[in-house]
Amino acid sequence: MKTAQLTFIGGAGTVTGSKTLVETAGGLVLVDCGLFQGEKRYRLQNWDPLPVDPASIDAVLLTHAHLDHCGYLPRLVNGGFRGPVWCTEGTRRLAAIVLPDSGHLQEEEAEWANRMGFSRHRPALPLYTKDEAVASLERFRTVDFNTPTPIVEGLRATWHRAGHILGAASIALDLERPARRVVFSGDLGRSLHPLLLPPEPIGAADVVVTESTYGDEPHHDGTLTGVSDGVGEVMAEVVNRAARYGGVVVIPAFAVDRTEVVLWHLDRLVAEGRVPDLPVFVDSPMACRALDVYRSELEAGSPEVRPELRGRPLFGAIDPVPVVTVEESKALNARRGPMIVVSASGMATGGRVLHHLARRLGDHRNTILIVGFQAPGTRGDALRHGARQLKLHGQVHEVKAKVVSIALSAHADQSELLRWLASAEPRPEAVYVNHGEPDASAALVAAVTGRFGIDAVAVTPGQQVRLGERL
Ligand SMILES: [Zn+2]
Repeated sequence: MKTAQLTFIGGAGTVTGSKTLVETAGGLVLVDCGLFQGEKRYRLQNWDPLPVDPASIDAVLLTHAHLDHCGYLPRLVNGGFRGPVWCTEGTRRLAAIVLPDSGHLQEEEAEWANRMGFSRHRPALPLYTKDEAVASLERFRTVDFNTPTPIVEGLRATWHRAGHILGAASIALDLERPARRVVFSGDLGRSLHPLLLPPEPIGAADVVVTESTYGDEPHHDGTLTGVSDGVGEVMAEVVNRAARYGGVVVIPAFAVDRTEVVLWHLDRLVAEGRVPDLPVFVDSPMACRALDVYRSELEAGSPEVRPELRGRPLFGAIDPVPVVTVEESKALNARRGPMIVVSASGMATGGRVLHHLARRLGDHRNTILIVGFQAPGTRGDALRHGARQLKLHGQVHEVKAKVVSIALSAHADQSELLRWLASAEPRPEAVYVNHGEPDASAALVAAVTGRFGIDAVAVTPGQQVRLGERL
């Protein structure tokens, strides 16, 4: 009989490209099918052949709809994968937004490279097209949370809430031979997500595979604790300043989840009478579509949503204006403040937020509100660190606007990861740490070993571990 084993293909030693192959007697299963993103050395790995023939994979299980967890799917289908892609309904709906958009961007990049002549391949080809991304959606099959689903002979999978973005789950795999329960964290959210319930406890697990994005640090943010309201206070100050001076608040935000969370905070402040109800524009077609998904899941009373919000409209006090066409987006440039513009991309690496920054940076009445993680080297990171100038579309712009940053992370920090791991009952025999930069993974390994006395390992790309054997 074949030995059951895990192979960490992507998301090992880095935070993108999540892919773990699970080999069992009953078949081959891929947990997450993510795109490598960020630095070029990572992005190039999307072109490397997988160590396994896609046609031989029986099923894909998705934890959530972020591209670093699902964005390689169209490529897998192009490579011959013909099995089902299992995920929650929220993930299916969000993937139907982000995957075609990713295909569109891949096509744009290839076209740009061809026009500028800087591709090694001639002609430069997209990793996959928008049409191929749309075609891959046909393979999706949805599961309910907490409902064991047969995947291949001798293997069942159960999705548990992870509280990271809508639809996000940890996945528990129950193998018959050897009898083992392996739990994949997926990306774990914060216990204080304002819309989603916190991650579910692990329960029984022989082996846990956990993310470690923030394995080495606590979030120093004043989140909603009932005692202090750091996010609300900072945001109120920013909005009131815009109202006072007739300024514009530009908020670069990730289209999925960050936009909803930012707007939720704003809605709360308006409802509590702490800020005036300024015009709010959501300038990102993808964010507008994701907003519709969040809205309908809330109103439909999805079990992931906090009970007090189920069956209610997403916003009670504000009425954000969706900005869909390019013309509508450009028209905002002629509009005077006070107003608030939420736009993508979240780190100001591209997208419509660039023209808003170009238009608004030079005026001291305006504020740029940074609300999420900013990778080193991005414009968002430069602004956060007090850059006096910013290059946009080839032109240098003076930064006269006020720059304010608040931490609205969608990821658990070290203490929250440890709290989740502590919910495994009884203690697992092994913890494999993935989805983190090497320092972050190493720090979590040390914490897990020190705190729980469990064998823990930071996995490396290509590493294989047998299930049913000690480390
Ligand atoms: Zn994620």
